[in-house]
Amino acid sequence: MLILDTLERGHRDLVESVLKTELIVGDIGDRPLLDWLFQTYPVTAVMHFAAYIEVGESIHSPDRFYQNNVHGALTLLQAMVAAKIPYFIFSSTAAVYGVPPEIPISETCPCAPINPYGRSKWMVEQMVADMGTAYGLKSVIFRYFNAAGADPHSRLGEDHRPETHLIPLVLQAAMGRRPHIAIYGTDYPTPDGTCIRDYIHVVDLAQAHVRGLKYLLSGGNSQIFNLGNAQGFSVRQIIETAQRVTGCSIPVIEGDRRAGDPAILVANSDRARCLLGWQPQYPDIEQIIHHAWQWHQRRHRGNHIIMS
Ligand code: UDP
Repeated sequence: MLILDTLERGHRDLVESVLKTELIVGDIGDRPLLDWLFQTYPVTAVMHFAAYIEVGESIHSPDRFYQNNVHGALTLLQAMVAAKIPYFIFSSTAAVYGVPPEIPISETCPCAPINPYGRSKWMVEQMVADMGTAYGLKSVIFRYFNAAGADPHSRLGEDHRPETHLIPLVLQAAMGRRPHIAIYGTDYPTPDGTCIRDYIHVVDLAQAHVRGLKYLLSGGNSQIFNLGNAQGFSVRQIIETAQRVTGCSIPVIEGDRRAGDPAILVANSDRARCLLGWQPQYPDIEQIIHHAWQWHQRRHRGNHIIMS
């Protein structure tokens, strides 16, 4: 296995100490680098995890998202076709659905993203499909719902700087590294007024990728799969669960809605279960938060307080 990463948002120590695999520091938008890499290493399949992911940032800096997420992916796909690399696995997102017409959401729901992040992923999905038709590229597209949790042995986990995601922010508040957690909107059409999401453990996402690769190598057709637990939790439920798991009280303030957030996103992942034999190993939200809590305590022990 070979990792190509700019390290703009990744961490060298985690790649080197945990994954123990070769790391090339570079950009998927760098075509000469890709050509060299594909000539030098015997690559059979490429997995793309290289996008920017924050909805809010995408609204303020859409051009950066189209440059990195869309242009970067196009450059990678072109280099793969030129090097005759047959298999591509792409991390997409539930954000391609926008405000879905039905819950749970199946892969046949129409895509109508409501923010530049979702649009950038949807553009790449369409490029991948067209490259398949034109050049025979075989692909698996995974639409992640809310990636959460951490390696159960606390070797790998989330470390975004700045952090914007709910569970890590809630845990930072539990650790006293933040004064509070702000709830973004309490007037959504949900039972407690806060947004509902389907949180899926990162180990289960990783397992799906292994199965997706085996599926392609054994001759499976290009396919799109939702990856979620088919169970939704509100922001308030996540905070309550985190209080239970951590045993810490978590100060909360109620704030305005965040731009670009749909009220409810919950997956129907039956297709991944049927075609890939995928079965989440850690569907329990307490377990997901417990693994994240262990990771954050280990990673951030002794770190300073973040004021916000
Ligand atoms: N959220 C919140 N406060 C925060 C961060 C997130 O209330 O400080 C809400 C956010 O509005 C969304 C949910 O938590 O409804 C999950 O947000 P996150 O950014 O973790 O993932 P997203 O759903 O945007 O992929």
